[in-house]
Amino acid sequence: MSEFTEKLKNRVWSWSSAAQAHECPYGFYLQRLAEPRIKQDENVFAQYGSQMHEWLELVFKGIMQPEELLELYLTDYESKITLKWPFNRYVDLEKSYYEDGLAFARHFKGLSPNYEVIGVELEMKAEIEGYKVIGYIDLLVKNKKTGEYIIVDHKSKKKFASKAEEKKYRKQLEFYGYLVHEKMGVWPAYTDLDLFRGQKHYIEPCTAEDCIAAKDYFIESVKTACETEEWLDKHSIKARENFKSAKDAKKAGKADFFCTEICSVRSHCPMSSAYVKPKKEKKSKKAG
Ligand code: SF4
Repeated sequence: MSEFTEKLKNRVWSWSSAAQAHECPYGFYLQRLAEPRIKQDENVFAQYGSQMHEWLELVFKGIMQPEELLELYLTDYESKITLKWPFNRYVDLEKSYYEDGLAFARHFKGLSPNYEVIGVELEMKAEIEGYKVIGYIDLLVKNKKTGEYIIVDHKSKKKFASKAEEKKYRKQLEFYGYLVHEKMGVWPAYTDLDLFRGQKHYIEPCTAEDCIAAKDYFIESVKTACETEEWLDKHSIKARENFKSAKDAKKAGKADFFCTEICSVRSHCPMSSAYVKPKKEKKSKKAG
């Protein structure tokens, strides 16, 4: 139990908040518990991902035709993707992301006529074992012939580093499968990880057992988070699990790309090389 337990039990949990509570408790504390609230740091990867999601949303909602995506990409990219890309010694990230997005827009055909759209950016709310949860499904479609549902998630990754990484991302969609069943009474038949920068769909069958197992995993993570007492002295997974001393953990944190470039509270976290030390408040002059 901690001073935050009640607040945590009453909050609305998403997949990403539960994952953050597990992966970097201190980041969770800074982003979601600390008072007064801190302004979050932006990053260009999130800006790029959100923009692509926004354009895809226009297409799948029928507001824009698939073939218009290319024109929009060419005319609006520069004004929409404005944050600085970090340096990478192996690849020019700015060029690579732009070109991958361009190739995707050029070949994009939209949804096959065999499918109908059930929802886009679909909000799914539920209460599970007393915990309030929320999820947003990028795209939910139905096969017109078979009636099978597919949960689609657009990702700005180009490929998965391993099968384990793919499995980790798929678990979130299986959890959404549970929420779909709660709301609509149907178990989705497939999950589709749409890695648009690589123009590749990773589609796998999805069963009721998969969805229930993902829900159990999620609820366990939430329960653990609610009971934790160590919000302030646990940092990223790397630092927490692999290093004994605070010095080593700090070193690992500073070398971590996520901590340096992506984490949305990095400028407030001493573990990150993006940390900005707060200015000391001026000492008030002694009276008299
Ligand atoms: S910078 Fe790293 S260690 Fe710090 S809060 Fe973010 S993820 Fe956690």
